Amino acid sequence: MKKYLTFRWLSLGLGLVAIVGLTAMNVYSLYALHESTVSSSLERKKSQLVEVSEQVGIRLKQTAGDLYRLNLEELDEAVKGEEPVPDLFHELLAEASRDSLFNEIYFTDGDCRACDGNGPIQKFNKEGERLEWTYDVPEVVTDGIGMARTRMNASINDFEWQFRHFFDTHRSMTVAIINTEERYVIGYLNMLIDDEYLAQRYIAPRLENVFGGREESGLTVWLRNTITNETLTSTDPDLEFRREYEDYSQSFPDLLDDWQLVAAFHENPALEASQSSLYRNLAVLGATVLFLLGALVFMFVTAQRERELAVRQAGFLANVTHELKTPLAVMQAAGENLSDGRVEDKNRLSSYGQHIYNESLRLRRMIEKLLDVAKTDSGKRSLQPVMKDVNELVDKYVGENRQIFESNGVKVRLEKENGLAPVMLDEESFLTVLGNLVENAIKYSNQPYVDIRTVRDKQYVRIDVQDWGPGIPKKDQKYIFDKFFRVEDHMTANTKGHGLGLSIVKDLMELNNGYVTLKSEQGRGATFSLYFPVCEDTDITQNQRLPANGTSKSRTEYSERQ
Ligand code: ADP
Repeated sequence: MKKYLTFRWLSLGLGLVAIVGLTAMNVYSLYALHESTVSSSLERKKSQLVEVSEQVGIRLKQTAGDLYRLNLEELDEAVKGEEPVPDLFHELLAEASRDSLFNEIYFTDGDCRACDGNGPIQKFNKEGERLEWTYDVPEVVTDGIGMARTRMNASINDFEWQFRHFFDTHRSMTVAIINTEERYVIGYLNMLIDDEYLAQRYIAPRLENVFGGREESGLTVWLRNTITNETLTSTDPDLEFRREYEDYSQSFPDLLDDWQLVAAFHENPALEASQSSLYRNLAVLGATVLFLLGALVFMFVTAQRERELAVRQAGFLANVTHELKTPLAVMQAAGENLSDGRVEDKNRLSSYGQHIYNESLRLRRMIEKLLDVAKTDSGKRSLQPVMKDVNELVDKYVGENRQIFESNGVKVRLEKENGLAPVMLDEESFLTVLGNLVENAIKYSNQPYVDIRTVRDKQYVRIDVQDWGPGIPKKDQKYIFDKFFRVEDHMTANTKGHGLGLSIVKDLMELNNGYVTLKSEQGRGATFSLYFPVCEDTDITQNQRLPANGTSKSRTEYSERQ
Protein backbone atom coordinates (compact mmCIF):
# COMPACT_ATOMS: atom_id res chain seq x y z
CA MET A 1 0.00 0.00 0.00
CA LYS A 2 2.82 2.34 0.96
CA LYS A 3 4.59 1.50 -2.28
CA TYR A 4 1.51 2.57 -4.27
CA LEU A 5 1.22 5.76 -2.29
CA THR A 6 4.84 6.68 -2.98
CA PHE A 7 4.33 5.82 -6.63
CA ARG A 8 1.24 8.02 -6.81
CA TRP A 9 3.02 10.99 -5.23
CA LEU A 10 5.96 10.39 -7.54
CA SER A 11 3.67 10.35 -10.61
CA LEU A 12 1.97 13.53 -9.44
CA GLY A 13 5.37 15.18 -8.93
CA LEU A 14 6.64 14.04 -12.34
CA GLY A 15 3.38 15.15 -13.99
CA LEU A 16 3.66 18.59 -12.39
CA VAL A 17 7.33 18.90 -13.34
CA ALA A 18 6.50 17.86 -16.93
CA ILE A 19 3.67 20.40 -17.18
CA VAL A 20 5.77 23.19 -15.68
CA GLY A 21 8.73 22.28 -17.92
CA LEU A 22 6.65 22.14 -21.10
CA THR A 23 4.96 25.41 -20.20
CA ALA A 24 8.30 27.12 -19.59
CA MET A 25 9.60 25.82 -22.94
CA ASN A 26 6.49 27.01 -24.74
CA VAL A 27 6.57 30.44 -23.14
CA TYR A 28 10.25 30.71 -24.03
CA SER A 29 9.70 29.76 -27.68
CA LEU A 30 6.70 32.10 -27.99
CA TYR A 31 8.84 34.97 -26.71
CA ALA A 32 11.74 33.93 -28.96
CA LEU A 33 9.40 33.90 -31.96
CA HIS A 34 8.11 37.34 -31.08
CA GLU A 35 11.63 38.67 -30.54
CA SER A 36 12.79 37.28 -33.88
CA THR A 37 9.78 38.88 -35.62
CA VAL A 38 10.69 42.18 -34.00
CA SER A 39 14.39 41.92 -34.75
CA SER A 40 13.89 40.75 -38.36
CA SER A 41 11.58 43.71 -38.92
CA LEU A 42 14.27 46.02 -37.46
CA GLU A 43 17.01 44.37 -39.52
CA ARG A 44 14.98 44.91 -42.69
CA LYS A 45 14.64 48.59 -41.89
CA LYS A 46 18.33 48.93 -41.16
CA SER A 47 19.25 47.35 -44.47
CA GLN A 48 16.82 49.72 -46.24
CA LEU A 49 18.67 52.64 -44.64
CA VAL A 50 22.01 51.23 -45.84
CA GLU A 51 20.52 50.95 -49.33
CA VAL A 52 19.44 54.61 -49.31
CA SER A 53 22.91 55.74 -48.24
CA GLU A 54 24.53 53.66 -50.98
CA GLN A 55 22.14 55.04 -53.60
CA VAL A 56 23.29 58.57 -52.73
CA GLY A 57 26.93 57.55 -53.34
CA ILE A 58 26.07 55.90 -56.66
CA ARG A 59 24.09 58.97 -57.74
CA LEU A 60 27.02 61.30 -57.03
CA LYS A 61 29.65 59.13 -58.62
CA GLN A 62 27.69 58.34 -61.75
CA THR A 63 28.53 61.85 -63.05
CA ALA A 64 32.08 60.71 -63.59
CA GLY A 65 30.98 57.60 -65.41
CA ASP A 66 31.15 59.11 -68.83
CA LEU A 67 34.72 60.33 -68.31
CA TYR A 68 35.77 56.84 -69.39
CA ARG A 69 35.01 57.92 -72.97
CA LEU A 70 37.92 60.42 -72.79
CA ASN A 71 41.25 59.89 -74.51
CA LEU A 72 43.45 60.50 -71.47
CA GLU A 73 46.62 61.10 -73.54
CA GLU A 74 44.93 64.03 -75.30
CA LEU A 75 43.80 65.38 -71.97
CA ASP A 76 47.28 64.95 -70.52
CA GLU A 77 48.78 66.92 -73.41
CA ALA A 78 46.15 69.61 -73.00
CA VAL A 79 46.98 69.89 -69.32
CA LYS A 80 50.66 70.30 -70.20
CA GLY A 81 49.64 73.08 -72.65
CA GLU A 82 50.78 71.14 -75.71
CA GLU A 83 47.30 70.60 -77.20
CA PRO A 84 43.90 72.33 -76.82
CA VAL A 85 41.38 70.85 -74.34
CA PRO A 86 39.51 67.98 -76.14
CA ASP A 87 35.93 68.87 -77.18
CA LEU A 88 34.62 65.68 -75.61
CA PHE A 89 35.94 66.86 -72.22
CA HIS A 90 34.03 70.13 -72.63
CA GLU A 91 30.89 68.23 -73.66
CA LEU A 92 31.11 65.92 -70.66
CA LEU A 93 31.62 68.85 -68.30
CA ALA A 94 28.65 70.67 -69.87
CA GLU A 95 26.51 67.63 -69.20
CA ALA A 96 27.69 67.45 -65.58
CA SER A 97 27.09 71.16 -65.06
CA ARG A 98 23.47 70.72 -66.16
CA ASP A 99 22.99 68.23 -63.27
CA SER A 100 21.24 70.15 -60.49
CA LEU A 101 23.40 68.29 -57.97
CA PHE A 102 26.44 70.40 -58.80
CA ASN A 103 26.75 74.16 -58.48
CA GLU A 104 30.15 74.73 -60.06
CA ILE A 105 32.96 72.69 -61.61
CA TYR A 106 36.69 73.49 -61.39
CA PHE A 107 39.64 71.77 -63.04
CA THR A 108 43.31 71.85 -62.13
CA ASP A 109 46.42 69.95 -63.22
CA GLY A 110 47.78 67.01 -61.29
CA ASP A 111 50.47 69.04 -59.55
CA CYS A 112 47.80 71.36 -58.31
CA ARG A 113 49.87 74.43 -58.95
CA ALA A 114 47.05 76.75 -57.92
CA CYS A 115 46.43 75.04 -54.65
CA ASP A 116 48.20 77.74 -52.69
CA GLY A 117 45.12 79.89 -53.32
CA ASN A 118 46.82 82.32 -55.70
CA GLY A 119 45.34 80.79 -58.84
CA PRO A 120 44.78 80.87 -61.64
CA ILE A 121 42.60 77.80 -61.89
CA GLN A 122 40.20 76.63 -64.59
CA LYS A 123 36.46 77.02 -63.95
CA PHE A 124 33.77 75.61 -66.24
CA ASN A 125 31.66 78.35 -67.78
CA LYS A 126 28.11 76.98 -68.09
CA GLU A 127 27.00 79.46 -70.74
CA GLY A 128 30.06 79.21 -72.97
CA GLU A 129 30.47 75.51 -72.18
CA ARG A 130 34.22 76.04 -71.90
CA LEU A 131 36.90 75.87 -69.20
CA GLU A 132 38.19 79.38 -68.48
CA TRP A 133 41.08 80.59 -66.35
CA THR A 134 40.08 82.50 -63.27
CA TYR A 135 41.70 83.97 -60.18
CA ASP A 136 38.33 84.16 -58.45
CA VAL A 137 38.52 80.79 -56.68
CA PRO A 138 36.44 80.06 -53.60
CA GLU A 139 38.51 78.95 -50.63
CA VAL A 140 36.63 75.70 -50.49
CA VAL A 141 37.96 74.67 -53.87
CA THR A 142 41.64 75.21 -53.26
CA ASP A 143 41.34 73.80 -49.78
CA GLY A 144 39.50 70.83 -51.17
CA ILE A 145 42.00 70.20 -53.90
CA GLY A 146 44.92 70.73 -51.54
CA MET A 147 43.58 68.03 -49.32
CA ALA A 148 42.72 65.86 -52.25
CA ARG A 149 46.28 65.99 -53.59
CA THR A 150 47.90 64.92 -50.32
CA ARG A 151 45.67 61.97 -49.86
CA MET A 152 45.77 61.05 -53.51
CA ASN A 153 49.58 60.94 -53.58
CA ALA A 154 49.66 58.61 -50.65
CA SER A 155 47.46 56.02 -52.30
CA ILE A 156 48.12 56.53 -56.00
CA ASN A 157 50.90 53.89 -56.28
CA ASP A 158 48.62 50.95 -55.94
CA PHE A 159 45.61 52.46 -57.64
CA GLU A 160 44.22 50.44 -60.58
CA TRP A 161 41.46 52.70 -61.88
CA GLN A 162 41.57 55.79 -64.01
CA PHE A 163 39.27 57.77 -61.77
CA ARG A 164 38.96 58.13 -58.12
CA HIS A 165 36.35 60.11 -56.20
CA PHE A 166 36.34 61.37 -52.77
CA PHE A 167 34.49 63.91 -50.75
CA ASP A 168 35.49 66.46 -48.24
CA THR A 169 33.70 68.14 -45.43
CA HIS A 170 33.17 71.27 -47.50
CA ARG A 171 30.60 69.32 -49.47
CA SER A 172 32.62 69.04 -52.67
CA MET A 173 33.35 65.97 -54.75
CA THR A 174 36.85 65.62 -56.16
CA VAL A 175 37.52 63.33 -59.11
CA ALA A 176 41.16 62.51 -59.73
CA ILE A 177 41.94 61.54 -63.35
CA ILE A 178 44.81 59.05 -63.12
CA ASN A 179 47.45 57.75 -65.52
CA THR A 180 47.42 54.22 -64.16
CA GLU A 181 50.55 53.03 -66.00
CA GLU A 182 52.95 55.73 -64.92
CA ARG A 183 51.03 56.34 -61.75
CA TYR A 184 50.46 60.04 -61.59
CA VAL A 185 47.42 62.26 -61.46
CA ILE A 186 46.65 64.01 -64.77
CA GLY A 187 44.22 66.48 -63.24
CA TYR A 188 41.55 67.06 -60.64
CA LEU A 189 37.91 67.91 -61.24
CA ASN A 190 36.38 69.63 -58.24
CA MET A 191 32.60 69.71 -58.24
CA LEU A 192 30.68 71.74 -55.63
CA ILE A 193 27.63 69.84 -54.43
CA ASP A 194 24.29 71.59 -53.96
CA ASP A 195 23.44 70.57 -50.36
CA GLU A 196 19.92 71.84 -50.53
CA TYR A 197 19.16 69.91 -53.70
CA LEU A 198 20.80 66.72 -52.44
CA ALA A 199 18.90 66.79 -49.13
CA GLN A 200 15.48 68.05 -50.23
CA ARG A 201 15.15 66.89 -53.80
CA TYR A 202 17.11 63.68 -53.82
CA ILE A 203 17.32 62.10 -50.34
CA ALA A 204 13.92 63.26 -49.01
CA PRO A 205 11.81 61.67 -51.82
CA ARG A 206 13.83 58.47 -51.58
CA LEU A 207 13.16 58.18 -47.86
CA GLU A 208 9.51 58.90 -48.48
CA ASN A 209 9.46 56.24 -51.18
CA VAL A 210 11.15 53.53 -49.18
CA PHE A 211 9.57 54.07 -45.77
CA GLY A 212 6.36 56.01 -46.37
CA GLY A 213 4.52 57.38 -43.36
CA ARG A 214 5.20 56.52 -39.75
CA GLU A 215 1.98 54.49 -39.43
CA GLU A 216 2.87 51.96 -42.14
CA SER A 217 6.60 51.65 -41.53
CA GLY A 218 6.74 52.15 -37.78
CA LEU A 219 9.76 54.44 -38.00
CA THR A 220 10.88 58.04 -38.44
CA VAL A 221 14.08 58.89 -40.32
CA TRP A 222 15.89 62.22 -39.96
CA LEU A 223 18.74 63.39 -42.21
CA ARG A 224 21.03 65.11 -39.73
CA ASN A 225 24.13 67.26 -39.96
CA THR A 226 26.07 65.99 -36.99
CA ILE A 227 28.46 68.95 -36.89
CA THR A 228 25.90 71.74 -36.95
CA ASN A 229 23.29 69.62 -35.17
CA GLU A 230 20.64 70.47 -37.75
CA THR A 231 17.88 68.36 -39.25
CA LEU A 232 18.01 68.65 -43.05
CA THR A 233 14.93 66.60 -43.82
CA SER A 234 12.72 64.04 -42.10
CA THR A 235 10.03 61.48 -42.93
CA ASP A 236 7.87 62.88 -40.13
CA PRO A 237 7.96 66.69 -40.06
CA ASP A 238 5.70 66.74 -36.97
CA LEU A 239 8.23 64.88 -34.86
CA GLU A 240 11.21 67.03 -33.92
CA PHE A 241 14.46 65.10 -33.50
CA ARG A 242 15.58 64.41 -29.93
CA ARG A 243 18.73 62.53 -29.01
CA GLU A 244 16.80 59.97 -26.91
CA TYR A 245 14.70 58.97 -29.95
CA GLU A 246 17.76 57.67 -31.75
CA ASP A 247 17.55 53.87 -32.12
CA TYR A 248 19.87 53.50 -35.10
CA SER A 249 22.11 55.70 -37.22
CA GLN A 250 23.55 55.14 -40.67
CA SER A 251 26.35 57.26 -42.17
CA PHE A 252 27.12 57.63 -45.88
CA PRO A 253 30.16 55.44 -46.56
CA ASP A 254 33.12 57.48 -47.97
CA LEU A 255 31.03 60.59 -48.57
CA LEU A 256 29.19 63.37 -46.78
CA ASP A 257 31.00 62.46 -43.60
CA ASP A 258 29.10 64.92 -41.39
CA TRP A 259 25.69 63.72 -42.57
CA GLN A 260 23.82 60.84 -40.99
CA LEU A 261 20.49 59.09 -41.38
CA VAL A 262 19.08 58.68 -37.88
CA ALA A 263 16.10 56.38 -37.24
CA ALA A 264 13.63 55.98 -34.40
CA PHE A 265 11.58 52.77 -34.31
CA HIS A 266 7.98 53.04 -33.16
CA GLU A 267 5.16 50.57 -32.65
CA ASN A 268 3.67 49.51 -35.95
CA PRO A 269 0.77 47.28 -37.04
CA ALA A 270 3.01 44.30 -37.82
CA LEU A 271 4.68 44.43 -34.41
CA GLU A 272 1.38 45.06 -32.67
CA ALA A 273 -0.07 42.01 -34.45
CA SER A 274 2.90 39.94 -33.36
CA GLN A 275 2.50 41.26 -29.80
CA SER A 276 -1.21 40.50 -29.64
CA SER A 277 -0.65 37.06 -31.17
CA LEU A 278 1.94 36.51 -28.42
CA TYR A 279 -0.60 37.46 -25.74
CA ARG A 280 -3.29 35.32 -27.37
CA ASN A 281 -1.00 32.33 -27.48
CA LEU A 282 0.04 32.91 -23.87
CA ALA A 283 -3.61 33.06 -22.81
CA VAL A 284 -4.46 29.81 -24.64
CA LEU A 285 -1.37 28.18 -23.18
CA GLY A 286 -2.29 29.41 -19.70
CA ALA A 287 -5.83 28.05 -20.00
CA THR A 288 -4.57 24.69 -21.28
CA VAL A 289 -2.01 24.43 -18.50
CA LEU A 290 -4.63 25.29 -15.89
CA PHE A 291 -6.91 22.65 -17.36
CA LEU A 292 -4.11 20.07 -17.36
CA LEU A 293 -3.13 20.93 -13.80
CA GLY A 294 -6.77 20.76 -12.77
CA ALA A 295 -7.18 17.36 -14.45
CA LEU A 296 -3.99 16.07 -12.85
CA VAL A 297 -4.94 17.26 -9.39
CA PHE A 298 -8.49 15.97 -9.88
CA MET A 299 -7.19 12.54 -10.88
CA PHE A 300 -4.84 12.52 -7.93
CA VAL A 301 -7.49 13.59 -5.44
CA THR A 302 -9.96 11.04 -6.84
CA ALA A 303 -7.39 8.28 -6.59
CA GLN A 304 -6.55 9.40 -3.09
CA ARG A 305 -10.21 9.41 -2.09
CA GLU A 306 -10.76 6.01 -3.60
CA ARG A 307 -7.84 4.74 -1.65
CA GLU A 308 -9.18 6.25 1.56
CA LEU A 309 -12.58 4.72 0.82
CA ALA A 310 -10.99 1.32 0.24
CA VAL A 311 -9.10 1.64 3.54
CA ARG A 312 -12.29 2.65 5.34
CA GLN A 313 -14.27 -0.15 3.76
CA ALA A 314 -11.64 -2.67 4.81
CA GLY A 315 -11.72 -1.22 8.33
CA PHE A 316 -15.50 -1.33 8.23
CA LEU A 317 -15.57 -5.01 7.27
CA ALA A 318 -13.22 -5.91 10.10
CA ASN A 319 -15.27 -3.77 12.44
CA VAL A 320 -18.61 -5.22 11.36
CA THR A 321 -17.34 -8.77 11.68
CA HIS A 322 -16.14 -7.96 15.17
CA GLU A 323 -19.38 -6.16 16.04
CA LEU A 324 -21.47 -9.10 14.83
CA LYS A 325 -19.38 -11.62 16.69
CA THR A 326 -19.44 -9.85 20.05
CA PRO A 327 -23.22 -9.84 20.66
CA LEU A 328 -23.50 -13.31 19.16
CA ALA A 329 -20.83 -14.59 21.56
CA VAL A 330 -22.61 -12.96 24.52
CA MET A 331 -25.96 -14.39 23.45
CA GLN A 332 -24.41 -17.80 22.79
CA ALA A 333 -22.82 -17.94 26.26
CA ALA A 334 -26.00 -16.76 27.98
CA GLY A 335 -28.09 -19.20 25.94
CA GLU A 336 -25.78 -22.10 26.87
CA ASN A 337 -25.99 -21.28 30.55
CA LEU A 338 -29.76 -21.12 30.37
CA SER A 339 -30.18 -24.25 28.26
CA ASP A 340 -28.22 -26.63 30.48
CA GLY A 341 -30.61 -25.72 33.32
CA ARG A 342 -27.93 -25.27 35.97
CA VAL A 343 -28.82 -21.65 36.71
CA GLU A 344 -31.73 -21.50 39.08
CA ASP A 345 -31.18 -18.19 40.80
CA LYS A 346 -33.95 -15.83 39.69
CA ASN A 347 -31.71 -12.76 39.53
CA ARG A 348 -29.09 -14.50 37.43
CA LEU A 349 -31.77 -15.90 35.14
CA SER A 350 -33.16 -12.40 34.61
CA SER A 351 -29.66 -11.00 34.05
CA TYR A 352 -28.98 -13.60 31.32
CA GLY A 353 -32.32 -12.78 29.72
CA GLN A 354 -31.49 -9.04 29.86
CA HIS A 355 -28.11 -9.69 28.21
CA ILE A 356 -29.69 -11.65 25.41
CA TYR A 357 -32.34 -8.95 24.93
CA ASN A 358 -29.83 -6.04 24.88
CA GLU A 359 -27.41 -7.77 22.58
CA SER A 360 -30.13 -8.79 20.15
CA LEU A 361 -31.33 -5.15 20.14
CA ARG A 362 -27.81 -4.00 19.35
CA LEU A 363 -27.52 -6.60 16.64
CA ARG A 364 -30.82 -5.54 15.14
CA ARG A 365 -29.87 -1.87 15.07
CA MET A 366 -26.63 -2.63 13.37
CA ILE A 367 -28.23 -4.85 10.77
CA GLU A 368 -30.85 -2.18 10.15
CA LYS A 369 -28.17 0.41 9.54
CA LEU A 370 -26.37 -1.86 7.12
CA LEU A 371 -29.60 -2.51 5.29
CA ASP A 372 -30.32 1.23 5.20
CA VAL A 373 -27.00 1.92 3.51
CA ALA A 374 -27.39 -0.97 1.10
CA LYS A 375 -30.90 0.14 0.17
CA THR A 376 -29.94 3.76 -0.45
CA ASP A 377 -26.83 2.76 -2.37
CA SER A 378 -28.74 0.46 -4.66
CA GLY A 379 -31.46 3.07 -5.19
CA LYS A 380 -34.07 0.59 -4.02
CA ARG A 381 -35.27 2.57 -1.07
CA SER A 382 -38.90 3.46 -1.59
CA LEU A 383 -40.26 6.32 0.43
CA GLN A 384 -43.86 7.02 1.26
CA PRO A 385 -44.01 10.73 1.81
CA VAL A 386 -47.14 11.99 3.48
CA MET A 387 -48.12 15.29 5.03
CA LYS A 388 -46.87 15.26 8.62
CA ASP A 389 -46.59 17.49 11.63
CA VAL A 390 -42.96 17.40 12.69
CA ASN A 391 -43.77 18.17 16.32
CA GLU A 392 -45.92 15.06 16.54
CA LEU A 393 -43.14 12.90 15.09
CA VAL A 394 -40.59 14.34 17.48
CA ASP A 395 -42.90 13.59 20.40
CA LYS A 396 -43.40 10.07 19.10
CA TYR A 397 -39.67 9.48 18.79
CA VAL A 398 -38.91 10.82 22.24
CA GLY A 399 -41.75 8.84 23.76
CA GLU A 400 -40.63 5.57 22.18
CA ASN A 401 -37.01 5.99 23.20
CA ARG A 402 -37.51 7.24 26.71
CA GLN A 403 -35.94 4.07 28.09
CA ILE A 404 -32.77 4.48 26.09
CA PHE A 405 -32.30 8.06 27.32
CA GLU A 406 -32.93 6.87 30.81
CA SER A 407 -30.41 4.09 30.65
CA ASN A 408 -27.79 6.53 29.34
CA GLY A 409 -28.52 9.13 32.00
CA VAL A 410 -29.44 11.81 29.50
CA LYS A 411 -32.11 14.51 29.62
CA VAL A 412 -33.67 15.33 26.26
CA ARG A 413 -34.95 18.89 26.33
CA LEU A 414 -37.62 19.71 23.76
CA GLU A 415 -38.37 23.19 22.47
CA LYS A 416 -41.13 23.10 19.88
CA GLU A 417 -42.60 25.96 17.91
CA ASN A 418 -46.35 25.67 17.96
CA GLY A 419 -48.43 25.73 14.79
CA LEU A 420 -45.64 24.61 12.52
CA ALA A 421 -46.62 24.07 8.89
CA PRO A 422 -46.83 20.41 7.94
CA VAL A 423 -44.18 18.95 5.71
CA MET A 424 -44.12 16.09 3.22
CA LEU A 425 -41.90 13.35 4.56
CA ASP A 426 -41.51 9.65 4.95
CA GLU A 427 -42.15 8.87 8.60
CA GLU A 428 -39.87 5.88 8.88
CA SER A 429 -36.89 7.68 7.41
CA PHE A 430 -37.59 10.73 9.58
CA LEU A 431 -37.42 8.60 12.70
CA THR A 432 -34.19 6.96 11.46
CA VAL A 433 -32.59 10.34 10.81
CA LEU A 434 -33.62 11.82 14.14
CA GLY A 435 -32.61 8.59 15.90
CA ASN A 436 -29.12 8.63 14.37
CA LEU A 437 -28.53 12.24 15.38
CA VAL A 438 -29.79 11.80 18.95
CA GLU A 439 -27.82 8.55 19.36
CA ASN A 440 -24.65 10.35 18.24
CA ALA A 441 -25.39 13.26 20.58
CA ILE A 442 -25.62 10.80 23.44
CA LYS A 443 -22.65 8.67 22.34
CA TYR A 444 -20.14 11.41 21.64
CA SER A 445 -21.05 14.18 24.07
CA ASN A 446 -20.77 12.57 27.51
CA GLN A 447 -22.99 15.39 28.80
CA PRO A 448 -26.35 15.01 30.54
CA TYR A 449 -28.32 17.14 28.06
CA VAL A 450 -29.43 16.80 24.45
CA ASP A 451 -31.64 19.55 23.01
CA ILE A 452 -34.17 19.09 20.25
CA ARG A 453 -35.68 22.22 18.74
CA THR A 454 -38.28 22.63 16.04
CA VAL A 455 -38.68 26.00 14.28
CA ARG A 456 -39.93 27.58 11.12
CA ASP A 457 -36.92 28.81 9.10
CA LYS A 458 -38.00 30.64 5.91
CA GLN A 459 -39.39 28.00 3.53
CA TYR A 460 -38.34 25.15 5.79
CA VAL A 461 -39.23 23.50 9.02
CA ARG A 462 -35.98 23.02 10.89
CA ILE A 463 -35.20 20.44 13.56
CA ASP A 464 -32.03 21.06 15.57
CA VAL A 465 -30.35 18.33 17.55
CA GLN A 466 -27.81 19.94 19.83
CA ASP A 467 -25.37 18.47 22.29
CA TRP A 468 -22.85 20.04 24.65
CA GLY A 469 -19.95 17.67 24.13
CA PRO A 470 -16.51 18.15 22.59
CA GLY A 471 -17.87 19.04 19.13
CA ILE A 472 -16.31 18.17 15.79
CA PRO A 473 -12.98 19.66 14.62
CA LYS A 474 -13.26 22.15 11.71
CA LYS A 475 -10.96 20.12 9.46
CA ASP A 476 -13.21 17.04 9.74
CA GLN A 477 -16.53 18.78 9.22
CA LYS A 478 -16.45 18.56 5.43
CA TYR A 479 -16.05 14.76 5.58
CA ILE A 480 -18.47 14.14 8.39
CA PHE A 481 -21.31 13.00 6.10
CA ASP A 482 -19.03 10.68 4.07
CA LYS A 483 -19.56 6.99 4.33
CA PHE A 484 -17.30 5.21 6.85
CA PHE A 485 -15.80 8.48 8.06
CA ARG A 486 -15.00 8.65 11.76
CA VAL A 487 -13.17 11.46 13.54
CA GLU A 488 -9.81 10.31 14.78
CA ASP A 489 -10.02 11.30 18.42
CA HIS A 490 -10.03 9.71 21.81
CA MET A 491 -13.81 9.86 22.24
CA THR A 492 -14.54 8.14 18.92
CA ALA A 493 -11.87 5.52 19.48
CA ASN A 494 -13.65 4.51 22.69
CA THR A 495 -17.10 4.50 21.13
CA LYS A 496 -18.51 1.79 18.96
CA GLY A 497 -19.57 2.80 15.48
CA HIS A 498 -18.95 2.34 11.77
CA GLY A 499 -19.16 5.81 10.25
CA LEU A 500 -22.50 5.08 8.60
CA GLY A 501 -25.07 6.95 10.71
CA LEU A 502 -24.46 10.45 9.30
CA SER A 503 -24.14 9.26 5.71
CA ILE A 504 -27.55 7.62 6.13
CA VAL A 505 -28.89 10.92 7.54
CA LYS A 506 -27.62 12.85 4.52
CA ASP A 507 -28.99 10.37 1.97
CA LEU A 508 -32.38 10.14 3.64
CA MET A 509 -32.68 13.92 3.92
CA GLU A 510 -32.00 14.24 0.19
CA LEU A 511 -34.60 11.58 -0.58
CA ASN A 512 -37.06 13.66 1.46
CA ASN A 513 -36.15 16.81 -0.56
CA GLY A 514 -34.47 18.30 2.49
CA TYR A 515 -30.93 18.69 3.70
CA VAL A 516 -28.80 18.55 6.82
CA THR A 517 -26.19 20.98 8.14
CA LEU A 518 -23.70 20.97 10.96
CA LYS A 519 -22.50 23.78 13.19
CA SER A 520 -19.82 22.96 15.64
CA GLU A 521 -16.91 24.51 17.43
CA GLN A 522 -14.44 22.31 19.16
CA GLY A 523 -15.22 22.09 22.86
CA ARG A 524 -18.62 23.72 22.42
CA GLY A 525 -20.81 20.88 21.26
CA ALA A 526 -22.40 20.18 17.92
CA THR A 527 -25.72 21.18 16.35
CA PHE A 528 -27.08 19.16 13.45
CA SER A 529 -30.03 20.83 11.71
CA LEU A 530 -32.55 19.02 9.53
CA TYR A 531 -34.38 21.13 6.94
CA PHE A 532 -37.68 19.93 5.46
CA PRO A 533 -39.35 22.12 2.84
CA VAL A 534 -42.75 23.41 3.88
CA CYS A 535 -45.73 22.28 1.78
CA GLU A 536 -46.71 25.46 -0.09
CA ASP A 537 -50.43 24.58 -0.44
CA THR A 538 -50.93 24.34 3.23
CA ASP A 539 -48.59 27.13 4.13
CA ILE A 540 -51.16 29.91 4.31
CA THR A 541 -53.66 27.92 6.27
CA GLN A 542 -50.99 26.88 8.69
CA ASN A 543 -49.60 30.38 9.12
CA GLN A 544 -53.06 31.65 9.71
CA ARG A 545 -53.28 29.28 12.60
CA LEU A 546 -50.35 31.03 14.31
CA PRO A 547 -51.14 33.49 17.05
CA ALA A 548 -51.11 37.13 15.96
CA ASN A 549 -48.03 38.06 18.01
CA GLY A 550 -45.87 35.56 16.11
CA THR A 551 -44.43 32.28 17.18
CA SER A 552 -45.42 30.48 20.32
CA LYS A 553 -43.23 27.84 21.86
CA SER A 554 -43.66 24.94 24.17
CA ARG A 555 -40.91 23.47 26.26
CA THR A 556 -40.81 19.93 27.59
CA GLU A 557 -38.07 18.22 29.48
CA TYR A 558 -37.72 14.48 29.52
CA SER A 559 -35.83 14.19 32.72
CA GLU A 560 -34.09 10.90 33.32
CA ARG A 561 -31.62 9.34 35.69
CA GLN A 562 -28.76 11.70 36.64
P1 ADP B 1 -20.61 6.25 13.89
O1 ADP B 1 -21.25 7.00 15.01
O2 ADP B 1 -21.19 4.90 13.68
O3 ADP B 1 -19.12 6.25 13.96
P2 ADP B 1 -21.64 8.38 12.26
O4 ADP B 1 -21.69 8.51 10.77
O5 ADP B 1 -22.92 8.50 12.97
O6 ADP B 1 -20.90 7.04 12.52
O7 ADP B 1 -20.66 9.49 12.79
C1 ADP B 1 -19.42 9.69 12.15
C2 ADP B 1 -18.40 10.29 13.11
O8 ADP B 1 -18.78 11.63 13.40
C3 ADP B 1 -18.35 9.64 14.43
O9 ADP B 1 -17.46 8.54 14.40
C4 ADP B 1 -17.86 10.73 15.35
O10 ADP B 1 -16.44 10.77 15.28
C5 ADP B 1 -18.40 11.98 14.72
N1 ADP B 1 -19.62 12.49 15.38
C6 ADP B 1 -20.91 12.29 14.99
N2 ADP B 1 -21.78 12.95 15.79
C7 ADP B 1 -21.01 13.61 16.71
C8 ADP B 1 -21.31 14.47 17.83
N3 ADP B 1 -22.58 14.78 18.15
N4 ADP B 1 -20.28 14.96 18.54
C9 ADP B 1 -18.99 14.66 18.21
N5 ADP B 1 -18.65 13.84 17.19
C10 ADP B 1 -19.65 13.31 16.44
